[in-house]
Amino acid sequence: MKLKIYNTMSRQKEEFVPLMEDSNYNWPKKDFVWMYSCWPTVYRDPSIWNYRATFTADLIRNTLKLFWYKVVSVMNITDVGHLTSDADDGEDKLEKWAKREWISVWEVAKKYENIFMKGMKALNIDTFDVMPKATDHIAEQISLIQKLEEKAYTYEVPGDWIYMDTSKVENYWELMWPNYKKRLEDLNAWIRVDMWGKKNPTDFALWKFNVTGQKRDMERDSPRWIWFPGWHIECSAMSSKYLGEQFDIHHWWADHITVHHSNEIAQSECGFGVHPWVKYWVHNEFLQVDWGKMSKSLWNVYTLEDVQKRWYSPLDLKYFYFMAQYSNFQNFTWEQLDVAKNTRQALIRKLQWREELKDRKEFENDPFFKEAMEAVSDNINTPKLLAIIQSSLNNVNENTYAIITFFENNFLKLWLFEEQEKVEIPSEVQELAQKRREAKKNKDWNTADSLRDQLTSLWWKILDRPDGFDLEKI
Ligand SMILES: [Zn+2]
Repeated sequence: MKLKIYNTMSRQKEEFVPLMEDSNYNWPKKDFVWMYSCWPTVYRDPSIWNYRATFTADLIRNTLKLFWYKVVSVMNITDVGHLTSDADDGEDKLEKWAKREWISVWEVAKKYENIFMKGMKALNIDTFDVMPKATDHIAEQISLIQKLEEKAYTYEVPGDWIYMDTSKVENYWELMWPNYKKRLEDLNAWIRVDMWGKKNPTDFALWKFNVTGQKRDMERDSPRWIWFPGWHIECSAMSSKYLGEQFDIHHWWADHITVHHSNEIAQSECGFGVHPWVKYWVHNEFLQVDWGKMSKSLWNVYTLEDVQKRWYSPLDLKYFYFMAQYSNFQNFTWEQLDVAKNTRQALIRKLQWREELKDRKEFENDPFFKEAMEAVSDNINTPKLLAIIQSSLNNVNENTYAIITFFENNFLKLWLFEEQEKVEIPSEVQELAQKRREAKKNKDWNTADSLRDQLTSLWWKILDRPDGFDLEKI
């Protein structure tokens, strides 16, 4: 069975063939799939929107492992140079927050990085293999800018910015092509206001020089490179350092397609002289709240803390994420989180004491396993996988629990077994269920039905098994 994944670059679901298996590439780094994810800028409490992207990075990594790939995963930590607007104006986000909280930018970065790492842990998401910080990689960023300067892809607005000249970039529109016209229209409307010395509206900053003489917290002492990099350059510099100048998968949310990722491609392909820089562009779609955008003015920028304050487990939120395919929009409401919580709790009850470890070889030909893998192979169709798991419990065979355990341990990681509590079954209930089983054996359907009704009136549900029955609290 082959994994198929939606590649934003081709606008198609493609069979996943990593560089190491692709004869079109002379790929020296055998044995691994190399993937990179951007990261939210660490300057405020991450929202459930941010966590959907992190969840997706983990999802892609776990999916690759289900298909026997070994993975090297990098997720960057943006702690410098991200301005308040994604265009090249406004203040540095971190500096703005530092002023507000009366602490240094370093403290802001550290504080929110810690909160994010804690959040990942609460969602049962392992750390990524390398989590480099932008501030630790200024030299790499400068060296890439120098390469671009040598190849004449840049120009300087003296004492202000170094810009990337996008008119010299072949196929600059490639990743965003259906949206390119719209982006140009937006930019053209904007440039009537100010071009900041740019030659083309799509040009973007690689480096900001100090024009004000004002001292910044994050300052360096090189004669030329004294202020800060533009925020696109860090991803190109860090990914190439850890993954090489070409790699398999680049992921983050769809919001970045038209600006950030298109700019990353431009500077990497021009700087490193490769095409394509990345083979698969994977994007998770937006998370909406109450069918609208999350916004501070609507008081709906929910964080993990908000979720926990309302007595939900972070794993309920994780279950909620699984309920939509990563590549689709998902709408968050507290009612939907309730659905996720109740479904997860019901699943935990059904799995009571049934954790079963078996070697994958033992159930690989089981139709349930095949069907479940089929769902994952189809662009990671998690809602379908959940439905398949649910229905497998209505028709249990000797592999069912081992297969669910396998998915839980390797893919879902929802604490389905850890959070179980032992439910005491009253002897009266146990007796009624036993009598019903006898009645069924004797084909006395009327008695069996009436016994089932009695159980229901006591709030117990009986689930028939080939070898007996299970009792579940309603
Ligand atoms: Zn990035």
